[in-house]
Amino acid sequence: MNQISPAAAGQASRTARDPELRVPSEPENDSPLIQVQNLSKIYKTARGAFHLFDSLNLEVAAGEMVAVVGQSGAGKSTLLHMLGALDAPSSGTVYCASTNVASLSAREAALFRSRKIGYVWQFHYLLPEFTAQENVAMPLLARGVGKAEAMALAANWLKEVDLDDRATHRPGELSGGEQQRVALARALVNTPRLLLADEPTGDLDGLTAGRIFELIQRLHQSHGLTSILVTHNLELAARCTRVLRLENGRLTQMGHTRD
Ligand code: ADP
Repeated sequence: MNQISPAAAGQASRTARDPELRVPSEPENDSPLIQVQNLSKIYKTARGAFHLFDSLNLEVAAGEMVAVVGQSGAGKSTLLHMLGALDAPSSGTVYCASTNVASLSAREAALFRSRKIGYVWQFHYLLPEFTAQENVAMPLLARGVGKAEAMALAANWLKEVDLDDRATHRPGELSGGEQQRVALARALVNTPRLLLADEPTGDLDGLTAGRIFELIQRLHQSHGLTSILVTHNLELAARCTRVLRLENGRLTQMGHTRD
């Protein structure tokens, strides 16, 4: 199945550790990192077809930090899943880092996710029987990185999220904010270009939520990420470069765009 955009045809990359990975490593310089065209998602239910989106369009430039807000059930998580190759649209195209993610096979989608996307969810989904450092190392080990190297890289990432003094703690021995810091380190340990965060502060108190958001902002800037955050927190959303509201299957821009 051809997963490469017309613009990027012929630029497929391979890496030593991911010999099967055929997705191109870089987008065209002047093209948006994310380009969604005529996206539709239709669920077949017992009561008939449910059209969540019919013709949704979105462009996100490299380096943007975009907040997506909207009522519960508007389709924010579904949109994020389709951007990150976790769910397939009913029709339309989703170009993400020069790859039409909608056309990937299940195996290609898994490789694409592990190399290009960092995910953070409302709940941390850390493995309870492993330490913070082991949890962060997990995506590297899954790619075939040796244990010593994976653990060393994980230790560096725990420093990045100000948690190096908790490396040997298990998730149950960490606070909610600390657990989310570990989840962020795990999301970024494979150095993805795109960070997708679904209510990353939704389970935290106001003060901790603000601190986690500031950490995401810092990591976004220092690692040159493109980030899309789904959030109910309008105050935090307003601190992103752009706020989009998802309503009735349409995305509309709210307020002004920050530099
Ligand atoms: P949000 O993240 O904005 O709260 P979601 O993306 O989780 O919204 O869900 C959007 C809508 O799609 C909801 O109304 C949900 O019930 C519906 N939905 C999600 N998955 C399915 C499914 N497999 N079958 C039918 N409807 C679904």
